[in-house]
Amino acid sequence: MRTLGPGRRLGVWLQGCGLACAGCMSRHTWDPLGGSDRTVSSLLVLWRAALAAGADGLTVSGGEPLDQPAGLDALLTGAAWIRAEALASGEGTARHAADLLLYTGYEDAEIERDPARAAAVRHADTLVTGRFRAAEPTALVWRGSANQRMRPRTELGRARYAPHLDRRDDGPRLQVHMVEGENDVRLYGVPRRGELGALEKRLARAGMRLRGPSWRP
Ligand code: SF4
Repeated sequence: MRTLGPGRRLGVWLQGCGLACAGCMSRHTWDPLGGSDRTVSSLLVLWRAALAAGADGLTVSGGEPLDQPAGLDALLTGAAWIRAEALASGEGTARHAADLLLYTGYEDAEIERDPARAAAVRHADTLVTGRFRAAEPTALVWRGSANQRMRPRTELGRARYAPHLDRRDDGPRLQVHMVEGENDVRLYGVPRRGELGALEKRLARAGMRLRGPSWRP
């Protein structure tokens, strides 16, 4: 995945979100009983393999990852430990350490005043925080609306994300992925305002109709 954070990244989306932002493109992630069960250790196996293949980072999004604070804490703690181990052994990319990026709809104050949420973000190198507000579009890279903050928290996070804090995104913001054997088309990234509607129209002109797009109520 290349559209949520710098470089080639492993993406993990945690199921369940009670924040219900109007205009959310990922309504299919709202139901806490949806998705599929994964153990933290199985995700860490994927992370280890991604590092060995030269991944530039891990992006965790949702849904709302901080609605599962204990699982998220275990995931990021394990990911940081495996990254340190891979660096020490010289495995994976030699160019730089892979960073840990976390998306959350909670505001900074909502994270800081909740001990479980605050603990869960301690290993994230960078956070993108805040509700999605459809009425406040932005061209800033990797953010869905102008109110959302990108906040590096570690030395690695500052080094990797400082050049992007005020950078406007002029490249593709969405990546399309089709899973063999499934009917689903997956979109990774943060669309520009109106981009999803435009995509539906273009597909319709080409004779294709999306069934149950995740941005429709
Ligand atoms: S935009 Fe994010 S925080 Fe808001 S409802 Fe959708 S998944 Fe939840």
